[in-house]
Amino acid sequence: MSDKDVRAELAGHLRFFAQLGVDGLSRDPAWRRRPVEAATEHAASGETLELVREDLGACTRCTLHRLGRTQIVYGVGNPRAELMFIGEAPGHDEDIQGIPFVGRAGQLLTKIIEAIDLAREDVYIANVIKCRPPENRNPEPDEVGSCEPFLFRQVQVIKPRVIVALGTFAAQTLLRTNDPISRLRGKIFQYGDARLIPTFHPAYLLRSPDRKREVWEDMKKVRALLRGEDADGSQ
Ligand code: URA
Repeated sequence: MSDKDVRAELAGHLRFFAQLGVDGLSRDPAWRRRPVEAATEHAASGETLELVREDLGACTRCTLHRLGRTQIVYGVGNPRAELMFIGEAPGHDEDIQGIPFVGRAGQLLTKIIEAIDLAREDVYIANVIKCRPPENRNPEPDEVGSCEPFLFRQVQVIKPRVIVALGTFAAQTLLRTNDPISRLRGKIFQYGDARLIPTFHPAYLLRSPDRKREVWEDMKKVRALLRGEDADGSQ
C-alpha cells in the first residue's frame, strides 16, 4: 500500500471515529500541537455545541420567532471540523428541514466543498442568523445582535483552522466592517486563531455563474491553508 493510500485509509478511520462521537481524536495536525493550557481551558469551560444549543433554547430574543419561522436552524457537521462555512440566514428549505444550506444554494455549496475533496460531514456549516427572515429579507441589526453571540460560541467550540464567510453579510458581521464582499474577497484575514476567507455566496453564484471562477480561486487557498501551505492574499 502506498503512503497516500495509508493516509487516505487512516483519514477514513478517523472520520469514522469522529462520526461515532469518539472524543480526543482529530485529523487536524494542529490538534496534536495544541497547547495544554488551551485544552484545559476548553475542558474547564465545559462549553460544547450541545450546551450552546441548549442556551439558545426556543429562542424569542428577537422578533423573528413570531415572523413565520418554523424552527431554529442551528448548524450541522463535524464538531471538530478544520473548516467552517458561515452563511447569512436560513431560507425556505432550511427553515422546513432545520438544516443549513439544503436548498439550491446549499446544493451548490455541497459541490464547492466536494471540489476540494471534502464532504459536508467533514466541515461545519452555520449561519449568522438562526431563524428565517420573512421573504428572505436581510437580517436587521438587532437580530444580528441577538444571534451572533451563539455563532461566536460555535466558532470557539469548533476551533476551525479556516473559516469561509459566504457573502457580504457573513463577512461584514465576522470582520466588523462595512466593506462590500467585492472588496473583501481575494484576501485572507486573521480571525482569532483561524484564517478567514470571504467569498461570494452560493445564491449569488446561481444568479451570476461567471463568478464561480473567483470562488474556485478562493477554495484553492482554503485547500492550501488546510494542507499547511502558503496561500496568497494574507492581510
Ligand atoms: N443561505 C444562507 O445564507 N444560509 C442558508 O442556510 C441557506 C441559504
